Amino acid sequence: MTGVITGATLVAGVVGAPVRHSLSPLIHNAWIAAAGLDAVYVPFSPPAGGFARFVDGLRGGAIRGLNVTLPFKGDALDAADKPNARASIAGAANLLLFEADGSVRADNTDGEGLLAAFKEQAPGFDPGRAPVVILGAGGAARGAAAAFVAAGAPEVRLVNRTLGKAEAVAAGVGGAAQAFSLTSVRDAFNGAGAVINATSVGLDDDAILDLPLEVLPSGAVAMDMVYAPLVTGFLAAARLRGLATVDGLAMLVGQARPSFAALFGQPPPEHVDVRGLALAALGNQ
Ligand code: NAP
Repeated sequence: MTGVITGATLVAGVVGAPVRHSLSPLIHNAWIAAAGLDAVYVPFSPPAGGFARFVDGLRGGAIRGLNVTLPFKGDALDAADKPNARASIAGAANLLLFEADGSVRADNTDGEGLLAAFKEQAPGFDPGRAPVVILGAGGAARGAAAAFVAAGAPEVRLVNRTLGKAEAVAAGVGGAAQAFSLTSVRDAFNGAGAVINATSVGLDDDAILDLPLEVLPSGAVAMDMVYAPLVTGFLAAARLRGLATVDGLAMLVGQARPSFAALFGQPPPEHVDVRGLALAALGNQ
């Protein structure tokens, strides 16, 4: 925002429940200010069960668009008239765009953000070289699996507490995908090039994942989608094991970049240290 709301100010935002800890307003408003745009990015939190009504109220261009976070990513896909291929394959949308004709487009930039995070923090990683293990079978895991299939992973191994959900995701993402239960995680780790934690473990409870990291090849990369704390128990254990790590904040910024471009019609300015701003907000600096 340029500091003044005008009659022409473009409005965008993020919707979630809870949304108060979202870092997206901080990131996008920093880019808006640096780009000198007449725009503002605000948080929304509709009541449980009220997501579809909330989206309907915005049809017709009341606002330009919304990022979508927990627990609404599946609802967002359902509410859209025009989901693109990557949102449909992921079974979830993290971006809704409101068109002037009343229609709503859906996209999912999480997979792009995940691959960008690997590029930034593990530049030597080649997704096409070895199987990729994804822990979890929710929307984030499904999006990650689709992104790695598209990036040429020879095999995607989905490991989940509830095996049936991993089987459903493996069947839906195309490419070579296999499902494993948590009890056979050793088999999944065998020869893997990367392990991505896409479970919510570490987010808001004390549960820990007890993982046989010693089975992984020494060149494997460990990535955790959880970014608060920035160094999760999983990443700390991976570092102790000597593995390269990628954090969830790199993914968050990685998904925000294409979201900003879709919302405001231009890429975000490159010189803004949004990671530093986010770290300061998280109390990690
Ligand atoms: P979700 O749909 O709720 O899925 C949660 C997954 O975690 C399920 O597979 C669930 O297993 C598993 N799980 C939960 N508690 C567990 C436990 N105690 N032990 C083993 N497994 C457990 O969530 P989601 O939307 O996929 O998101 C997953 C995580 O990714 C969240 O932490 C989210 O914040 C994060 N995320 C981060 C970014 C980023 O930009 N950094 C982007 C997207 C998502 P069951 O199927 O057995 O219940």
